[in-house]
Amino acid sequence: MTLIYQSTRDKNNQVTASQAILQGLATDGGLYVPSQIPSVALDFGTLKNATYQEVATRVLSAFLDDYTKEEIAYCVEQAYDEKFDDAAIAPVVALDGQYNLELFHGNTIAFKDMALSILPYLMTTAAKKHGVDREIVILTATSGDTGKAAMAGFANVPGTKIIVFYPKDGVSKIQERQMTTQVGDNVKVIAIDGNFDEAQTNVKAMFNDTSLREEMFAHHKQFSSANSMNIGRLVPQITYYIYAYAQLVKKQVIKSGDKINVSVPTGNFGNILAAYYAKQIGLPISKLICASNENNVLTDFFHTGTYDKNREFFVTSSPSMDILVSSNLERLIFHLTNDDDVKTAKLMQDLQTTGEYEITPDMLAQLDGFYADFADETEISERILSAYEKDHYVEDPHTAVASAVYQKYVAATGDDKTPTVIASTASPYKFPKAVVGSLTELTGQEDDFELVEKLADLSKVTLPKAVSDLFGAPVLHETVVACADMQSAVETYLEFDKDTKDL
Ligand SMILES: *Cc1c(COP(=O)(O)O)cnc(C)c1O
Repeated sequence: MTLIYQSTRDKNNQVTASQAILQGLATDGGLYVPSQIPSVALDFGTLKNATYQEVATRVLSAFLDDYTKEEIAYCVEQAYDEKFDDAAIAPVVALDGQYNLELFHGNTIAFKDMALSILPYLMTTAAKKHGVDREIVILTATSGDTGKAAMAGFANVPGTKIIVFYPKDGVSKIQERQMTTQVGDNVKVIAIDGNFDEAQTNVKAMFNDTSLREEMFAHHKQFSSANSMNIGRLVPQITYYIYAYAQLVKKQVIKSGDKINVSVPTGNFGNILAAYYAKQIGLPISKLICASNENNVLTDFFHTGTYDKNREFFVTSSPSMDILVSSNLERLIFHLTNDDDVKTAKLMQDLQTTGEYEITPDMLAQLDGFYADFADETEISERILSAYEKDHYVEDPHTAVASAVYQKYVAATGDDKTPTVIASTASPYKFPKAVVGSLTELTGQEDDFELVEKLADLSKVTLPKAVSDLFGAPVLHETVVACADMQSAVETYLEFDKDTKDL
């Protein structure tokens, strides 16, 4: 039987996995979720010797079950190859008291590559399956890492275009340069005069705009999403939690069946939701530690049951987590209501109209598998320094949030025995100012590119190609628009003013 995906806001809106991937968002504004948790064989006696690709194949075949075996094999092969600079794809590194799961060995040195390396293949395969010959236009809002990873995946993929919006002053200089130097005939990068939440809200609005959808169809195009709202982003992320567990079994840190904790630096709630699904299929996870930076809306939510985005927005050293509206939380809310689309839609309506919603005590009680806390800028910096001093290991600021919050968890609960995996989401080379500034004194005059050299000196880790390639690469994208003009920027790029309609 084929696994059905249903919208969180209308259970009658049902599609298969490949249809969900092609569409991105449900047209009712909801997000697609699996209607049941498929069974995945977790025999770690075998899995401990499996390659990353083999684990991925097993997870994807179960969750994306309307793809054929050959289609999944093709997508996995194309995605997880020499693009990754480590044969393990996602190596696990033992540090003092924790295990860092390095998710930054792909094209753009952030964890978004884990899913965005495969999404273009899943999407174009889905289009072929369904006989869709309209051009697929990927519309993406980025807090810094998704944009580059999505472009790296979709650049020059026939039958697609990709448009990326990023907050002008909300990303690191390296992140910005990575995006503005992107080559490809089908890519467009646009900075907006606003923050990530505004970018994401306007992108969602374009997806849900019926007349724009018709206009797109008339031009023989349709939108899809490369954001973690797309199930094609979430499912591939389940793989690395299973893989990490298998590696710990292999290293005899744990025996099959032993519990681990997972600490995830969280923004849009995609990565930690993948860990939640891993737990649902039976991975022995004790606590899912939801780690936030000073934009700690999720910490408050897990403590009180009230989600309230009406608060000051901080630009921090971990910009990919500078988010006040965590889109994927909607999927967890839906599951907490026992898959009740009406209740979920009501809460999301509350969020839209008042900026807040409150879950019931019963729903809150079901969140006991999570632990939530946040780290401020000083704590992040201190963690970067202490990892360097203890382990001679350099964490990026996002990873340091997860490590610092894990230490708070240990202090609060006394649980220092359960082996804990830290989702290590970016290479420190992406955030040289914050990282080098934590390790040494800065004058404030250094630019990111000088700091990268300094970081190479300090860390003894070779400069990744993703960064060295940026030196001297020409800037190809310089468009900046106001938030209100995002849609017209899309229409201009897609040349709606020219008479390209099918008549
Ligand atoms: C996107 C991102 C995050 C946040 O992940 P979510 O899935 O949005 O919660 C954390 N760290 C880095 C480096 C990221 O790029």
